[in-house]
Amino acid sequence: MKLEIRGVGKQYDAKLWALRGLSLELAPGVLGLLGPNGAGKSTLMRILATLSNPTEGQVFWNGADIARQPEALRRTLGYLPQDFGVYPNLNAVEFLEYLAAVKGIPAASARRRIDELLALVNLTDARKRPLGGFSGGMRQRVGIAQALLNDPKLLIVDEPTAGLDPVERVRFRNLLSELSGERIVILSTHIVSDVAATATDIAIVSRGRLVAHAAPEALLAALAGLGAGVRALLAGDVAHLFAWAAGAMFIPALALALALGVWSGTSKLFEGLYTALWYAGPAQPTPGLDFIGAPRRTWMFACPAITSW
Ligand code: ADP
Repeated sequence: MKLEIRGVGKQYDAKLWALRGLSLELAPGVLGLLGPNGAGKSTLMRILATLSNPTEGQVFWNGADIARQPEALRRTLGYLPQDFGVYPNLNAVEFLEYLAAVKGIPAASARRRIDELLALVNLTDARKRPLGGFSGGMRQRVGIAQALLNDPKLLIVDEPTAGLDPVERVRFRNLLSELSGERIVILSTHIVSDVAATATDIAIVSRGRLVAHAAPEALLAALAGLGAGVRALLAGDVAHLFAWAAGAMFIPALALALALGVWSGTSKLFEGLYTALWYAGPAQPTPGLDFIGAPRRTWMFACPAITSW
């Protein structure tokens, strides 16, 4: 089972390439696709879900070009879009039965599968309640259940934890971990801790470019190293800054800062720091990155202003 993304780009209008020259090769496991809002994650996911054609490049599912043979992928695709909507008057079973019919799954096997899936997403007790009364987390779990109706080999979930409270977020992450195994799961998020626990691979996208693709430990260590350096810099702590520059994380952290900034012709370091700080907020505690608090907000405004200047 293999998904190959080769030089994929998407241009929405003459000025905007939402995605540019992105290449990745994926085997079974969970890929955490990290990037700030507007980075191009949804654009990539829509292309992989065959809902949108790339302007450049190709995607191969087990060797077959998905633009030429979309059916081969669609049969085995599960997709939870960012803006997943439900019919508020249907209950969970009715809604899933309806979607199973749309997907062409025979009624008898759909019924069995729906029971299994409702148990998997822990909604058996709420199965007969109208979806309009569900919490955000419960709706997302219905969303995952619908994405799993056809037991997909490629499961794409776009910002699934947006709007969930911390408890629901953890529950949802655990569910995703349980679902990996013999399938490729692509999980997009702008929250580091979403992928730190679940992903077997992390890809960072920024301004439509793939800026890093590595095992979570390596990337998160580099991010934490970058955070430690920025913290010393912001505090004007020269002794710590020198110690950091002489330490083991200096090169990976600097490489990451530059990689995060490569898309921009100017002010590479500021762009890199901006993206690093984006990930460094208090809502996403990552060891070594819990330092920024209020200054982060200042930087979020200051860095784009500096770079556009
Ligand atoms: P993300 O999912 O990382 O937040 P998106 O893929 O939604 O990023 O968006 C990437 C860029 O493409 C953004 O600048 C966004 O405004 C733009 N974009 C997304 N969809 C469209 C569209 N249908 N038409 C024009 N521009 C779009």
